[in-house]
Amino acid sequence: MVLADLGARLHGALNQFSKSSSIDDAAIDALLKELCAALLESDVNVKLVAQLRAKVKAKKSLEEAEKASGREVNKKNVVQKLVALVDPGTEPYKPVKGKVNVLMAVGIQGAGKTTTCTKLAVHYQRRGFRTCLVCADTFRAGAFDQLKQNATKAKIPFYGSYTETDPVAIASLGVEKFRKERFDVIIVDTSGRHKQESELFEEMVSISNAVKPDMTIMVLDASIGQAAEGQSRAFKDSADFGAIIVTKLDGHAKGGGAISAVAATKTPIIFLGTGEHLNDLEKFTPQPFISKLLGMGDIQGLMEHMQDMAMADPDRQKNLAKKLEQGKFSIRDWREQLSNIMGMGSLSKIASMIPGMPQGMMEGGEDEAAAKLKRMIFITDAMRTDELDSDGLIFFSFDKAGNPTGLNKRARRVAQGSGTSVREVEELLAQARMMAGMARQAGGKNGWMSAMQKMQ
Ligand code: GDP
Repeated sequence: MVLADLGARLHGALNQFSKSSSIDDAAIDALLKELCAALLESDVNVKLVAQLRAKVKAKKSLEEAEKASGREVNKKNVVQKLVALVDPGTEPYKPVKGKVNVLMAVGIQGAGKTTTCTKLAVHYQRRGFRTCLVCADTFRAGAFDQLKQNATKAKIPFYGSYTETDPVAIASLGVEKFRKERFDVIIVDTSGRHKQESELFEEMVSISNAVKPDMTIMVLDASIGQAAEGQSRAFKDSADFGAIIVTKLDGHAKGGGAISAVAATKTPIIFLGTGEHLNDLEKFTPQPFISKLLGMGDIQGLMEHMQDMAMADPDRQKNLAKKLEQGKFSIRDWREQLSNIMGMGSLSKIASMIPGMPQGMMEGGEDEAAAKLKRMIFITDAMRTDELDSDGLIFFSFDKAGNPTGLNKRARRVAQGSGTSVREVEELLAQARMMAGMARQAGGKNGWMSAMQKMQ
């Protein structure tokens, strides 16, 4: 089951649970049954699934004893356990600016090392690191050409050789050259083999001894599912590594299995590869990952994308950054972000970061995502100036004590005017409010941009 399907099923099960008339044992059992079936189909290890089930049940009786409010507590509990399933509970190395950081990629041939190295280089370069690539893969014919082509496209300096056949020599020379030039991030791509062979491990150790990486990253193909646990343990026994990138999560049925299997080895997953293009690399953090999978969005990830855009087009975003720095964010600002997103490509991926847009809904791909985003823009088009410039509270009625009692007439007018539903207007207002909340949190004295930079 591809991740989007898994997300849609988990989301569906939780929704069903929310709608059930009572939250007795039968409703909780039905929820658990559906969750477990979805996880097993995604190749998550049976033992891990059984543990999740037991933990949800144990916590449930505890909550009952405390007479906590049933439905929300149970849902939160399930989400927490899903997060724990993919959380290795360890922190990876974080490259530091102003220092030379050497990163080395290892893995089986075809796992996606070369592609991932360039994606990583692009990621760090966008965040202001001076980044370069070294191709020490002398085993696979064409590896250097591939890296050269990708690096040239992304305008990233690279080093490699058509004549030198010793990968240790190339790696040493390349890293030495770039060290002297004071690059911040040097990424070394190494050879793979068809399977885990002793020669591969020996070569990895020799290169590692020669270039002394700050972080060795194992690149792992998601299609092997729960076998990822065995593969990463075998690599770890021979050549220790500090982080993992799981690739090909865009199309493979066993993605959930691979991620949870890796998490079980307590090695931090730092990124997920989600396509063949250079931008198809997503930062992995357990909580936002599950949140996005369940259609609850990933506001932090969205903010990061907005920061990327700010780097690509500083003028357009300068105003926004200033507003966010002051902790302000209006519906008009949200509209501007939505239209920027429309121009960014890979809509379905970005759209899934917006709360209320389950991945499953994006199965229709780009067209469906574009249609949904367009409807959101239509909603803002039907708003009046004062409404657009507001924080959204203008759409609510309040009781005497100042508590919101529900949406007012404005919301219905906007829904009618835009050919959408009140529910959709409400969703958009909630999104704008969440963005404003995030802006307020990240704003303050250090400013939005520096807060974003700290998140890297
Ligand atoms: P290497 O042998 O480990 O260096 O692997 P490559 O980087 O050459 O990748 C092998 C194949 O996997 C290539 O066709 C890549 O385009 C493809 N690939 C790499 N990462 C991803 C990904 O995240 N998603 C998809 N769909 N394909 C990928």
